[in-house]
Amino acid sequence: MKVKVDQDLCIGCGTCELMCSQCFQLENGKAQVIRDNCDGVDCDIQDVIDSCPVEAISIVSEDQVNSEEKTA
Ligand code: SF4
Repeated sequence: MKVKVDQDLCIGCGTCELMCSQCFQLENGKAQVIRDNCDGVDCDIQDVIDSCPVEAISIVSEDQVNSEEKTA
């Protein structure tokens, strides 16, 4: 599944990186998704999503990813 971090919302608290360093990494004070498919093998991704204080993490469908790539 594709996971996305809203860069405008992220406050760089580091919680997601602490909970799942396989999928998230802080860069320049914002969390980046470093894994294409965060499949919940190494973490409970829903738990990470729920733990983000500003709700910046979301799961996006492949359709959403494709349409965003087209408009980008
Ligand atoms: S938990 Fe949320 S606010 Fe904190 S670094 Fe991750 S995405 Fe950003």
